[in-house]
Amino acid sequence: MTAAATVSTGSGPGRSPAELLRRLRARSAADPVTHVERVPPRPGVPVPWPEWVPPELRAALERRGVVAPWRHQAEAADLAYDGRHVVVATGTASGKSLAYQLPALATLLADPRATVLYLAPTKALAADQFRAVAGLELEGVRPACYDGDTPRAEREWIRRHSRFVLTNPDMLHHGILPGHAHWSGFLRRLTYVIVDECHTYRGVFGSHVAHVLRRLRRQCAGALRTSAAPGPRRPATGADGARRTPTFVLASATSGDPAAAAGRLTGLPVTAVTEDTSPRGGVTFALWEPPLLPATADDPPQDLTPTRRSALRETADLLADTVAEGVRTLAFVRSRRGAEVVASTARRALDEAVPGLGARVAAYRAGYLREERRELERALLDGDLLGLASTNALELGVDLVGLDAVLICGYPGTRASLWQQAGRAGRSGGEALAVLVARDDPLDTYLVHHPEALFGAPVEATVLDPANPYVLAPQLACAAAEAPLTPADLELFGDGAKEAVDALVAAQALRQRPTGWYWRHRERPEVDLRGEGGAPVCVVESATGRLLGTVDGGSAHFLVHPGAVYLHQGVSYVVDDLDLADGCALVHAEEPDWSTHARDVTSLSVVSVRSSVDAGPVRLFLGEVDVTSQVVSYQRRRLSSGEVIDTRPLDLPARELRTVAVWFTVTPEALAGAGVEPADVPGGLHAAEHAAIGLLPLVATCDRWDIGGLSTALHPDTEAPTVFVYDGHPGGAGFAERAYGTAAAWLRATRDAIVECGCETGCPSCVQSPKCGNGNNPLGRADAVRVLDVVLANLPDGT
Ligand SMILES: [Zn+2]
Ligand SMILES: [Zn+2]
Repeated sequence: MTAAATVSTGSGPGRSPAELLRRLRARSAADPVTHVERVPPRPGVPVPWPEWVPPELRAALERRGVVAPWRHQAEAADLAYDGRHVVVATGTASGKSLAYQLPALATLLADPRATVLYLAPTKALAADQFRAVAGLELEGVRPACYDGDTPRAEREWIRRHSRFVLTNPDMLHHGILPGHAHWSGFLRRLTYVIVDECHTYRGVFGSHVAHVLRRLRRQCAGALRTSAAPGPRRPATGADGARRTPTFVLASATSGDPAAAAGRLTGLPVTAVTEDTSPRGGVTFALWEPPLLPATADDPPQDLTPTRRSALRETADLLADTVAEGVRTLAFVRSRRGAEVVASTARRALDEAVPGLGARVAAYRAGYLREERRELERALLDGDLLGLASTNALELGVDLVGLDAVLICGYPGTRASLWQQAGRAGRSGGEALAVLVARDDPLDTYLVHHPEALFGAPVEATVLDPANPYVLAPQLACAAAEAPLTPADLELFGDGAKEAVDALVAAQALRQRPTGWYWRHRERPEVDLRGEGGAPVCVVESATGRLLGTVDGGSAHFLVHPGAVYLHQGVSYVVDDLDLADGCALVHAEEPDWSTHARDVTSLSVVSVRSSVDAGPVRLFLGEVDVTSQVVSYQRRRLSSGEVIDTRPLDLPARELRTVAVWFTVTPEALAGAGVEPADVPGGLHAAEHAAIGLLPLVATCDRWDIGGLSTALHPDTEAPTVFVYDGHPGGAGFAERAYGTAAAWLRATRDAIVECGCETGCPSCVQSPKCGNGNNPLGRADAVRVLDVVLANLPDGT
């Protein structure tokens, strides 16, 4: 199946997506399409402008082409204008920014004292939003970006004069809150806090951001208390004392229960607006499973030997084929190197067919300058470019929609991201094609055989856990360094705050006085929102001494061990040395033809049980565990084929992790009764563990790399055959808890994914894991199904 066979020109965009799909699937011998879903077009629902929108704002928006708001925009804006905390959670390009711009800008125009704070997860997105607000040219708003790049000379002007400050949570945490004395005028008058793309605040990072927002609320209240000057003229309504809380307006991608997630993030009651009333073109959505490769009968199956054609190759061929048809296509690929492989493979195939045609395909990734990004976007929209292979850099805030086809290479991890990527396809009034190409991964395998899990199911909830003591304690230290903590503050920071403060006192970080808890040190606590588990490791280019970036301490052994291939903004480096004492990895630029995959060995002990389900021969637990792991070797794998080149040993120290785990035990008698021979128990448990980790993202917004596992035929703490699955972050990030809460559904999907894989003895699409510390040995595919059948037969359904 190559583009070389057929090249047609000029007829592409006019052809229906169904016809295009028919031609694509006709090119393989075995039909790779497992399901086709037709997503119907939707008309938009415009409504009149809310009456409180002042004429000059309305005129400015109309000049920009916004003639009337969609209903969901007006609904969210009305709630926010009434002082209700609101989250608008709708699809890509549904105009969420108007929902917060309307109340924020109307208030700034009506009340010359009011101020607005806007938070985005990235500087680039804040810069885009700045241009949108500044472009309205409204009198007296004076929008300004305030981030790490803002020159010192401009900072004071911004603090004094800007009324619409755009920043990110890191800057709020490192710059604005510690310097709150300089910001008291701004904070006292703060009327709206806008939290854009709030679904990105998940896991440990999300838990940190939740406390940064609580610290912000505390400083707003503090600024009001210490000043005789009046606050905003139109106070936020609500319960007693709520006057001191600015109104939060959050924007989210479509997500499950957005009101609850936004409530956890802000610590406030939040109303959700979720019905998308913007217009959308129809999409034909195909699920595509790359064909099995012919079996090599003479060799015994080797660890991680690919058994299917790789998703990258398949996506590159599809991209070449759609471009050859004259169809404007965007391919999403998970890694930067992968995006480049897809683009270059497609270019080669096209040039073979028609010399010069390859030039109409390009790669796109994060790290490009804004001008370069805009140039590529313009070329694609104009049709100068027909194909673009991108990482998910496009997911955040880039205005590229209305394509004829979108290819998604590998499930992006969440249904929310899937819909966000597919949402790039479909011009209004037009019809488009979206294709999800399954990777060698149990979750991908499950999804292409269970379309109902993609098309019928609600999108997943954003998971975060502000009560994680490893997040709560450092955040309380930051809060105390900003202003002494009082008993009332502890309520603000929620469950576990008192225990965390007591621990900080015992550790001599805080001193208790009659008026509260005081930070004892001169230096501020050093807390990184995005990293965890030890000080970050600097990545330095040896030849130039240039600092390329940092890797958090928890992942350094995996990512920058000697010999590792490390990617930075699309450029590939190889690590020469990892100096753990200095916290520094030395690298040189090199583009080898392989990727590296670290291996570790792990032991685990149970510290305490939080909750359990007793189901006869099966028991299910949630609790704290201590995990000891050591990265001992790494594998080199050929980029194009995934084939293993070799495994090399490493000499790195062991590390400890206290975290949260979910685990189940099955009695040996029940296993024997299900036909699992005693000698096959380890392989069955191990295979079930791998697949269960692979399927966990189905129920929690995590990546399989956030999760670890351990299985054993006899564990000293449980005295039974046991499978453990644990959060890879100190203190847990909420993933294991979520798995415990949905255990029956999670393990049923795990079982189905193994059963439905077409392989014979287990492969990367079902039970093999790319991060297995044991080289995927022993591994029993059929026994894993028997183990899970016993578990599911006993576990109550709603578990
Ligand atoms: Zn398989
Ligand atoms: Zn393993």
